[in-house]
Amino acid sequence: MEILIFIGAALVLLLAFILIRALFFRPYPMKEIPPFAVEVDRDRAVQNLTRMIRCKTVSYLDTSLEAEGEFEKFRALLRECYPLVHQYCQFQRIGRTGLLYHWPGKSSEKPTVYMAHYDVVPAEEEAWEQPPFAGIIKDGFLWGRGTLDTKGTLCAILEGAEYLLAQGFVPANDIYLSFSGDEETNGASASDIVDYLAANGITPHMVLDEGGAIVQGAVPGVQEKCALVGTGEKGKLHLRFTVKSKGGHASSPPPRTPIGILARAVCAVENKPFRFHMAGPAREMFDILGRHAGFGLKLVFANLKLFGSLLNLATKKMGGEFNALVRTTVAFTKMKASDTVNVFPAAASVEADVRMMEGDTKDSVIAALKQ
Ligand SMILES: [Zn+2]
Repeated sequence: MEILIFIGAALVLLLAFILIRALFFRPYPMKEIPPFAVEVDRDRAVQNLTRMIRCKTVSYLDTSLEAEGEFEKFRALLRECYPLVHQYCQFQRIGRTGLLYHWPGKSSEKPTVYMAHYDVVPAEEEAWEQPPFAGIIKDGFLWGRGTLDTKGTLCAILEGAEYLLAQGFVPANDIYLSFSGDEETNGASASDIVDYLAANGITPHMVLDEGGAIVQGAVPGVQEKCALVGTGEKGKLHLRFTVKSKGGHASSPPPRTPIGILARAVCAVENKPFRFHMAGPAREMFDILGRHAGFGLKLVFANLKLFGSLLNLATKKMGGEFNALVRTTVAFTKMKASDTVNVFPAAASVEADVRMMEGDTKDSVIAALKQ
């Protein structure tokens, strides 16, 4: 009897603890920022971005598939649209597609680097409501591949620089504008620029690159629009799973075909997600945004440690962005086997795009997948 009373009392205490934590889980005070107008020639900026979208700068791992002329057209467009930037900044091409502008400030100490990339991933044109490379403006929106990722920011950086140069503005510290045209294929241009900066003793004080957006619904239960600033990035790994066979004719198949073996491997990996782990930046995000959620979810966000296993289950089921925040993920994206339906391939393969959480390494991921 006594033990029951003891358990009951402990449960009540735990419940009270959870409730009180949720009750005091209130939004952090936010500084009121009076609205201010950004001076910009809107029509010109829109027109320039539209022209950028019309350059079909699609990057491929197999660079022979790239339309080099489109990349050249894009670079020529920058010279045409931003004459002051090209007049006042020292410009150089670095690596295969890198563009580096040095905008001298009053001091060369503590330079800032603004980054963007001008290549885009391929677009399945039939699936688009508007053609992806036509730069169509409809209902106040500019449609096109690269508007967000990241010709939009590249355009904004250059519009800002061109505008300020026209005002005679000289930055307090040096500014570098660093653009690449092979980001989507993990090309070397950005790291070539890093090498150049390092070799010349230039140590950035701050680097601002793509990542994050103004989003709604990224954190469950939070209705308000949130400006997410990406402060961390997951590691990236490409893996190929291959099954070799003797080949042969489809009329007399073995009990397990290479594709059958691969399919089982893919299911096995998908059925065993990586461990639930909340890294520093994700924890911080839930602490800040979770305070804006409804009370039910506040109970969870205020007591993340207690509800860890519940979140683990929920995110496994949900997948998507929330899940990607709390574990290493494996996405199977590519398959290759026979080109002919009645012949076995000599080898069949699937490829996966792995995004690694802090703490995971190439070796630890491969070891876990082998299990
Ligand atoms: Zn991007």
